[in-house]
Amino acid sequence: MSTIIGSSSRHSRGLHRTCTAAVSFVRKSHLKHWAAFRLVCRRALFTVLALESSADDTCAAVVTSSRQILSNVVVKQHDLHEGFGGIHPTVAIEAHQRNMPGAVRRALENAKLTMQDIDGIAFTRGPGIGGCLSVGSNAAKCLAAALNKPLIGVHHMQAHALTPLLTAPADRIPEFPFITLLISGGHTLLLLATSQTSFDVLATTADESVGRSFDKVARLLGLSWGTRGPGAALEDFCRRDIASVPDVGSFPVPMAGKLAFSYSCLHSSIERYLAGTQGPLTEGHRVALARAFQDAAARQLCEKLTLGLERLSLRNINPRHVVVSGGVASNLFLRTRLRAALDVYSPDVRIELVFPPLELCTDNAVMIGWAAMHRFTSGDYDDYSIDLRAKWDISTISDANSCASRA
Ligand code: ATP
Ligand code: FE
Repeated sequence: MSTIIGSSSRHSRGLHRTCTAAVSFVRKSHLKHWAAFRLVCRRALFTVLALESSADDTCAAVVTSSRQILSNVVVKQHDLHEGFGGIHPTVAIEAHQRNMPGAVRRALENAKLTMQDIDGIAFTRGPGIGGCLSVGSNAAKCLAAALNKPLIGVHHMQAHALTPLLTAPADRIPEFPFITLLISGGHTLLLLATSQTSFDVLATTADESVGRSFDKVARLLGLSWGTRGPGAALEDFCRRDIASVPDVGSFPVPMAGKLAFSYSCLHSSIERYLAGTQGPLTEGHRVALARAFQDAAARQLCEKLTLGLERLSLRNINPRHVVVSGGVASNLFLRTRLRAALDVYSPDVRIELVFPPLELCTDNAVMIGWAAMHRFTSGDYDDYSIDLRAKWDISTISDANSCASRA
């Protein structure tokens, strides 16, 4: 179990009191005057409590419209799922149910706020494991309804993509249109982002995600998950200082020249290699395989990214920023490879590569609160009866939002 605690600031609390007073004025009139409420929110600081429980992390956080992270609580479940070799849905649901109340309590305490100071509540609406999503969703809906706060359900992958708009230094915030590579446990997506809610899918995976293949190869090599999970364990294993590492060759990038990813063939190659080897492998041999896998996984991401940029350039779209997010974006070897690939692709005009900080690459509720912020501040809220979307195509976010809107 691990907790990440964010910062707070006296400045934000001053502004916060202004908004709280205004919000409580509106609340006194039982939110009859939504227009007045929206006006208040548009002018003043807006503070969001956000919940995330789409997979195996129970998360709660407090974020403000002035780009401040007041708290960030993440309760991990790696120890519960390692024995199953992956996320066990029932175990995950039960752990979310146990952990969510404490996560919310700590998020408020770390932010030094009470529910009265919270202007709106955001939660992950999808995509994700249905039963897991329902834990965060029910908690958020009940809190919002009981306390008469506005509510917004957020697309989990949109939230991964928008994180750098919160965390990048003010002079390096990615500008639309930007290209985004979302690499996580459930997705491998190359997208063109033209606004906070508009994402065109340039490429997706034909089979499994890059994160899942990291998880499977870590298991094939018998690595223990540690506190950061199998993908990070594999990255650490590749860095092991070993005197003798055999040459195991390299694995090719599938579907050359096609804007599509494939990772199951990569992890199957490792599986076949292991099946064809006599007796237990030496540690050097396992390190060699791990490195060959990581190298091929990164090479595929680099090749498909530059192919995507080439295709966009043919349409006269030349993004200045590439945003890379999701759990696999915390891999430092990959970060170096992507930088080198962009420098080769565009040696004269630098394309900026933007990542969230390491702790905000994997799941967190900060990103959920931030992805809801533009809707909160424009008064575009969801109804308390909003449904979940366990499967949710990122290119349909705007349509889904307008169906769920109460404003
Ligand atoms: P999705 O975001 O698609 O719904 P998820 O939320 O389960 O899936 P994330 O929390 O965003 O996924 O990312 C988790 C994935 O990232 C796991 O597959 C994990 O192994 C992988 N991962 C985490 N750290 C690293 C790392 N350092 N190197 C490679 N992979 C990593
Ligand atoms: Fe995720």
